[in-house]
Amino acid sequence: MAFEGLAERLQNTLNKIKGKGKVSEADVTAMMREVRLALLEADVNFKVVKEFIANVKERAVGQEVLNSLTPGQQVIKVVNEELTKLMGGEQSKIAVAKKSPTVVMMVGLQGAGKTTTTGKLANHLRKSQNRKPLLVAGDIYRPAAIKQLETLGEQLNMPVFSLGDKVSPVEIAKQAILKAKEEHLDYVLIDTAGRLHVDETLMGELQQIKEAVNPDEILLVVDAMTGQDAVNVAESFNEQLGLTGVVLTKLDGDTRGGAALSVKAVTNTPIKFAGMGEKLDALEPFHPDRMASRILG
Ligand code: GDP
Repeated sequence: MAFEGLAERLQNTLNKIKGKGKVSEADVTAMMREVRLALLEADVNFKVVKEFIANVKERAVGQEVLNSLTPGQQVIKVVNEELTKLMGGEQSKIAVAKKSPTVVMMVGLQGAGKTTTTGKLANHLRKSQNRKPLLVAGDIYRPAAIKQLETLGEQLNMPVFSLGDKVSPVEIAKQAILKAKEEHLDYVLIDTAGRLHVDETLMGELQQIKEAVNPDEILLVVDAMTGQDAVNVAESFNEQLGLTGVVLTKLDGDTRGGAALSVKAVTNTPIKFAGMGEKLDALEPFHPDRMASRILG
């Protein structure tokens, strides 16, 4: 299960303070030392850890705890609230364009789960919001990617727009939007090319698509299992493209949790969805408060 080590360590640490009728500054300092280690071990970015610890400490030795009848529990509440804040606070929803269709660019490195997530997102939009999405095969360099999206479209019984692999992705994206308008489809989900590493050619192409279609949403799909790497990838995509959201995939795996806890703080881009498995219904809107409560038990 995801966050297992982190959850266990945090819960053990917090249990020690839970029942305390009085919490001293020394108690808080000792507790925060353990929390700090647990977070670092979970691969949370060290700057993020530092700031988080400072925020919790300040509040935990402050009036809201001192004046409380159950200071131990109050400290835990502070940790929970700060964790929630760290992951973005409020749930951040997917954009809806004033004028249909809403255009969403799906970006990310190869293997992160971009194509699968495109299918999952289409499924989610139809199921929970009654939308009519168009899937767009914009990854023309990996022939299997077009086929993969077409198969997803068949499984979902949803239209897929493809012009094969000889037409530029910019052109494909533009024509897909015209098609969506004609057919009164209200979301255009563009699957774009991925590479093994962030490189200039990839970014150049993504920037061209962005300029051509002016997307309402640029969602980066990253693999939560890759921890700090996911955060670094998010940082470079954000610098070069300006992301509007992140989808963390493979949160069903045994990720240590570092990516989930650092991405928002490092890139100031909200996590909008979490991938929880390979199946097409395994995508969930990301709720920072629920995730914090899951970690703290
Ligand atoms: P792309 O290269 O980024 O388009 O990646 P794919 O969509 O082809 O996905 C790569 C692999 O990751 C596939 O085997 C997917 O089934 C798997 N995958 C994608 N999302 C998830 C997820 O949330 N959980 C798990 N366990 N596997 C996932």
